[in-house]
Amino acid sequence: MKITTTDRVAHWIDAKVFSDASAQTQAVFNPATGQVIRQVELASAATVRQAIQSAQAAFAPWADMPPIRRARIMNRYLQLLNEHKDDLAKLVTEEHGKVFSDAQGEVMRGIDIVEFACGIPQLLKGDYTEQVSTDIDNWTTRQPLGVVAGITPFNFPCMVPMWMFPVAIACGNTFILKPSERDPSAALLMAQLLKEAGLPDGVFNVVQGDKVAVDTLLAAPEVRALSFVGSTPIAHYIYQTGAAQGKRVQALGGAKNHMIVMPDANLDAAVDGLIGAAYGSAGERCMAISVAVLVGEIADQIMPRLAQRAQQLKIGNGMQPEAEMGPVITAAAKQRIEDYIAAGVDQGATLVVDGRGVQVPGHEQGFFVGGTLFDHVTPDMTIYKDEIFGPVLVCVRVDSFEQAVQLINDHEFGNGVSCYTSDGHVAREFARRIQVGMVGINVPIPVPMAWHGFGGWKRSLFGDMHAYGEEGVRFYTKQKSIMQRWPETIAAGAEFAMPVAK
Ligand code: NAD
Repeated sequence: MKITTTDRVAHWIDAKVFSDASAQTQAVFNPATGQVIRQVELASAATVRQAIQSAQAAFAPWADMPPIRRARIMNRYLQLLNEHKDDLAKLVTEEHGKVFSDAQGEVMRGIDIVEFACGIPQLLKGDYTEQVSTDIDNWTTRQPLGVVAGITPFNFPCMVPMWMFPVAIACGNTFILKPSERDPSAALLMAQLLKEAGLPDGVFNVVQGDKVAVDTLLAAPEVRALSFVGSTPIAHYIYQTGAAQGKRVQALGGAKNHMIVMPDANLDAAVDGLIGAAYGSAGERCMAISVAVLVGEIADQIMPRLAQRAQQLKIGNGMQPEAEMGPVITAAAKQRIEDYIAAGVDQGATLVVDGRGVQVPGHEQGFFVGGTLFDHVTPDMTIYKDEIFGPVLVCVRVDSFEQAVQLINDHEFGNGVSCYTSDGHVAREFARRIQVGMVGINVPIPVPMAWHGFGGWKRSLFGDMHAYGEEGVRFYTKQKSIMQRWPETIAAGAEFAMPVAK
């Protein structure tokens, strides 16, 4: 392990650790033990400005470097990430709490994007029309924007930053990452590996911090684009503020993902799908399934099985190989989730499995919440409307497929959704009519692969383009259209009419 396990987590500016002794700090916890394991520095505006200057100075030569050479650096980075993937996963489990196998999966899904970014010469190829008019050719090319920034959430400290920076820097931009202050260490290891891969100084920078850092990035005219992933209120704020400053912004927000279980669904597959998608990572995934929509008589068959499985979840420290579910991120998150459970009971839902008060032997101070299951939930309840972001699955009973689709389309979020059925026609209609960005058919968590792009609809994404894939390349580049003519003789006279193809 390298620089990242110091007890003070600082910034990465100009390819060096940058620490400011006078900076405010915030405690970083191991959520499984509830203990403070290190302190993270919160960047002042001056520190963020320093990162911006470093990124600005690095931009011109980096943008000028032929894409194949940028791709070779990404290839070396890919190799180094594969060598260090378990180091990264350990840091994720230590600071986030998710079980180690899940952390390994997150790191791999991030590495996939680096692999995609290695193909940047192909992705940046422009279009060309010879003889668009007599003696004139026209081509389009895509050029990088400049300094771009990424602001990321606590729940995927490796994967979500890797949705952004590999594509952004491969396109020729320079990048400033503002990771979550709750699990800041993985960003520094990713940065150090970029340096080892041969990335020029200043192309990738990390500023740790909070709103002060984010607002400094938002206000800086040099920052041409912002990618944000986090909760919906902050996503909306970033989108509005960034757009008002003339920046390009993609701001991915919160979610309330539904899974419809049709009466003809394979029951075993639906139970497995729901249990893994609701309780994996303690429900702290933007693609977690938090609502089961049970159509018709399947409800009575599935509920006892869900209850049994929720009670049997193996909860523990994520480094224990047998653990299926770790803690939630903070004591405050645990309290918030338990308050939602109480509100569900008060508002009349049936609490089938109560995860409050769960104790993990040897980890009495850990931030654990057990798997929680509600039945007979209705759309007016806060446990249905709000994103709880914890291991709470709410079940809504409906009579028909039509009602299920309407319910989902009426929800304010539209990130992911799933339908379990054996009927191809139902599946096809579902995929066509559902107002959600990512759709699974007998797939519980439809997170698109690196070359397809990730993004929700409605209040789950503000902006026009999804993260990574070809949408990512478009987001981090601007199109230029060039027309050329090399006449053998100089044309006589000015043309005052709109030119048309000749
Ligand atoms: P968050 O919104 O609290 O924080 C996200 C980032 O914004 C962090 O870097 C944080 O430091 C910063 N931030 C927080 N408050 C801010 C403020 N007032 N002004 C400026 N910046 C601020 O989110 P979180 O709790 O870290 O992550 C969980 C949320 O992220 C959930 O809502 C989840 O659904 C969402 N999420 C969405 C996706 C997606 O792809 N749509 C993916 C992962 C997580």
